[in-house]
Amino acid sequence: MKTSVLVVGGGLAGTSAALFLAWRGVDVTLVEKHPGSSPHPRAIGFTARTGEMLRAVGLEAGLPASRMAKGFGIRRVRCASLVGERFEETFWSPPGEVSEIEYSPSTGVGVAQDRMEPLLRDKARELGADIRMSTRMLEFAQDDDGVTAIVQGDGEPYEIRAGYLVAADGHRSPVREHLGITRSGRGYMHTSRSVLFRAPLDEYLKDGIGQFIVDGVGFLTTYGDGRWVLMLDDREYDEPELRQKILQAIGRDDLPVEIVTTGRWTISAAVADRFSQGRVFLAGDAAHTLPPSRGGFGANVGIEDAHNLAWKLAAVLNGESRPSLLDTYDAERRPVATLCHQQIFARNDGHNRDGEPEDVPLIDNNAMHYGVLYRSDAVLGAGPELPPAQLPEQWNGQPGTRAPHVWIEPGKSTLDLFQRGWVLVADHPQWEEAAQQAGVRYERIERLDVFGLSAKGASLVRPDGYVAWRSADLPDDPAAALETAFSSSSAGTR
Ligand SMILES: Cc1cc2nc3c(=O)[nH]c(=O)nc-3n(C[C@H](O)[C@H](O)[C@H](O)COP(=O)(O)OP(=O)(O)OC[C@H]3O[C@@H](n4cnc5c(N)ncnc54)[C@H](O)[C@@H]3O)c2cc1C
Repeated sequence: MKTSVLVVGGGLAGTSAALFLAWRGVDVTLVEKHPGSSPHPRAIGFTARTGEMLRAVGLEAGLPASRMAKGFGIRRVRCASLVGERFEETFWSPPGEVSEIEYSPSTGVGVAQDRMEPLLRDKARELGADIRMSTRMLEFAQDDDGVTAIVQGDGEPYEIRAGYLVAADGHRSPVREHLGITRSGRGYMHTSRSVLFRAPLDEYLKDGIGQFIVDGVGFLTTYGDGRWVLMLDDREYDEPELRQKILQAIGRDDLPVEIVTTGRWTISAAVADRFSQGRVFLAGDAAHTLPPSRGGFGANVGIEDAHNLAWKLAAVLNGESRPSLLDTYDAERRPVATLCHQQIFARNDGHNRDGEPEDVPLIDNNAMHYGVLYRSDAVLGAGPELPPAQLPEQWNGQPGTRAPHVWIEPGKSTLDLFQRGWVLVADHPQWEEAAQQAGVRYERIERLDVFGLSAKGASLVRPDGYVAWRSADLPDDPAAALETAFSSSSAGTR
């Protein structure tokens, strides 16, 4: 069979890739070796930035807001037990940096991974993605024109011929290993066991602390749906012992506790030294394994990889852009992953199990979520002197950053103007004419100040909602200026 893009791996990154590609009308096939999502969730905290990407594909409505969205999910406490004495509180970021500014039309999302993955999968299927569960990729080879993979479901192995391959096959990534792509970073840190259980403990969440480091037991947190997870040292535990650990962590033995399942987790930190090779692109944990204990970047960064890659693959596959656009995936996403790796170790994990925080400047969470800077050929004017991330109000619409959010009418954000194709934001008839000539959609908005523009300026926004270029004022020949900027940043074929 033939497909434009073959995605290997049906976790959060792979399923997001299938979703974003299908939403852009790309013929995409995903293979996942398991029949469904693991009954033991890992991620729970999805940032508002992830919420924005889901909003664009019509998935945001109905998702519950995360505790982080309410401003206290970043709080942890060391305690004798859940009901017992509480000692010092720790934060992923200093609490003074929690901002009053509304950065996004979206809120963070608090859905356990085993519920989030099916939502993404169903939406991807609805949009036309061919998702094959219980199907393993056995081997692949690439040539100048495409990738040939051998996959196997219930029956005999068969061949899939694809234009491109997205390897979202997890932190051990057989695809990355096969390509011989090395990784850099701290590497292996520790192994943890976990027990997932159900217990009526919501009353202990009322004061806004969601994570508990229980002295002498382990790390206790909740998936917000009646399920809790207790992380323990790595050794064998039988069921009575697990139950005893849970009751010790709670500090009460009069509550019904149902053990759901257990897990064993390798916690490591590593970033691939290249995110692509030929027609193969790494995404998610295959590209960067970021420990969840400080910052909670892992899944969110993986979903944004998929988002960054999807519009580029779509543009190259439909002939609008030259394949060189795909080189900007590594150029843009690898530095973000490396920055996350650095910032994880600048943060406190509450008990500093893997060492004290590193002495590097701490970048605010809002800067990490909304304010990373892309430098690549798909951005004009993001010089090396600029910082890798800062708050949206500090950027003020700088090319290479996510276009700023303001409400343009009730319920409609500036961000809702983007995602479908290239957009020129301005408020001047000469720019409107220039946009028509360049074949770029024109959006007239009044709040040009948030884009760092005068009343005669314009910003060119990419299909992922990042600013590619801006002209703070009206140049002599706006049409020529826009044409040059558009054809350069989009690697245009015209
Ligand atoms: C305890 C824990 C808590 C976490 N909490 C958070 C959090 O709150 N927020 C956050 O952002 N991140 C969190 N993370 C990190 C997050 O879970 C991961 O970053 C994310 O799940 C990675 O998704 P992925 O799709 O890249 O990889 P995976 O989820 O590992 O998916 C890879 C998939 O590829 C499949 N696969 C592999 N090889 C093949 C093959 N040959 N053929 C077919 N299929 C194949 C596998 O079966 C697997 O389903 C947490 C991690 C842990 C361990």
